[in-house]
Amino acid sequence: MNKKISILGGGESGTGAAVLAKLKGYDVFLSDFGSIQQKYKDLLDKHSIEWEENKHSNIRIAEADEIVKSPGIRDTTEIIQYLKNNDKPIISEIEFASRYTKAKKICITGSNGKTTTTMLIYHILKKANLNVGLAGNVGQSFALQVAYSDFDYFVIELSSFQLDYMFDFKADIAILLNITPDHLDWYNYNFSLYADSKFRITRNQDKTCYFLYNADDKIIVDRLKSLKTESEFVPFSIFSEVKNGGFLSGPNIIINHNTKFEMNIYELALQGKHNVYNSLAAGLSAKILDIKNPLIRESLSDFKGVEHRLEKFIKVHGILFINDSKSTNVNSCWYALESMDKKTVWIAGGIDKGNDYSMLRELVKEKVIAIVALGKDNAKIHEAFDDVVEVIDVLSMEDAVKASYYLAKDDDIVLLSPACASFDLFKNYEDRGRQFKECVRKL
Ligand code: ADP
Repeated sequence: MNKKISILGGGESGTGAAVLAKLKGYDVFLSDFGSIQQKYKDLLDKHSIEWEENKHSNIRIAEADEIVKSPGIRDTTEIIQYLKNNDKPIISEIEFASRYTKAKKICITGSNGKTTTTMLIYHILKKANLNVGLAGNVGQSFALQVAYSDFDYFVIELSSFQLDYMFDFKADIAILLNITPDHLDWYNYNFSLYADSKFRITRNQDKTCYFLYNADDKIIVDRLKSLKTESEFVPFSIFSEVKNGGFLSGPNIIINHNTKFEMNIYELALQGKHNVYNSLAAGLSAKILDIKNPLIRESLSDFKGVEHRLEKFIKVHGILFINDSKSTNVNSCWYALESMDKKTVWIAGGIDKGNDYSMLRELVKEKVIAIVALGKDNAKIHEAFDDVVEVIDVLSMEDAVKASYYLAKDDDIVLLSPACASFDLFKNYEDRGRQFKECVRKL
């Protein structure tokens, strides 16, 4: 008899896992508590996979030997509690799919910069003509690609929600970019639990593996001493010189791994301090994979960037509009403001995940000429900045863009970097970023 598997969630991740499981001979049942998009229903039907939507049939789900949980489903949901009470093994899609590929896995985690760094590494590996797949937040799920393709390498973005349900998965190259408070609501507001989750990326790493980490991040460095892994440690830093790793020296990044690589930061496609970290991590991964220096240099300079991440959109009457809609916490917003080299009108606000804005006050004093607060509840923004600059409330993107355009002068910047989630007024951060660009186009 076939082994049974149940999949929770019928989005990109769950559908991918279902297809892979079916192709590997499992009896598959997929269940989603919400509704499933038509394109995923079609894919499930094409593979004769049974599914249900708008409910969870607990007993049927629990008949399986193993459960694959999509990353968006919280531990506190009734179905997860039910399965745990029944001692059912629950794993992530990434854990499941990794059983069926021998590809080398380059995995990226951190609080901020995951997607950017993942895309940058993928870009370098592609240019080096490696047979490489890209998995994570962008494009097809890891599981679906394992089902349909035969890659030698995978570049995989890992959120803590994927890491939490990984057990035997091994990252050949693991990258930890930073750990700052985010998603704490998922971790009982316990920062230590969230950091533990990020460190799971080193689980199962052996002597053949590499652990690339941000040596300027105190939370990371403090935990290194107690970290049990045999992998080779490869630090990167913008403040101090490191031996086997990457660092900033004057205007140059230097990467020492086997041979030396050097490049001026002004040639990097991605500007701003945070992107120096991302470029160092990407360059190091490429050196470890023996990609030649000229190709790394070319790739780090011709990368096109990722939409909604400090995306320089267009200039209107000399005012540059920058879309950083993906900035959903204070830390990413700090880096955005820090990299502004002109006077800035800052559009901020949305759903606050317990933000402490105090770390932004100095930057706001220095660079921001006005704040346009775009959210249903802007009280905390007023509290934090009313004594520093003018704060104007708006309730739509159209008004936000118009107000900013009015406040900015020739050669200024208008920066959308909300430091908050988007769900009060928008579907998601992509919707927020696209509306921003549409409104700017209409000016
Ligand atoms: P993630 O996938 O981790 O959410 P993204 O690459 O989508 O990260 O970027 C999210 C936000 O964080 C953007 O506003 C971006 O400008 C900013 N950011 C990118 N890299 C870093 C970094 N290394 N440190 C802090 N902020 C960053």
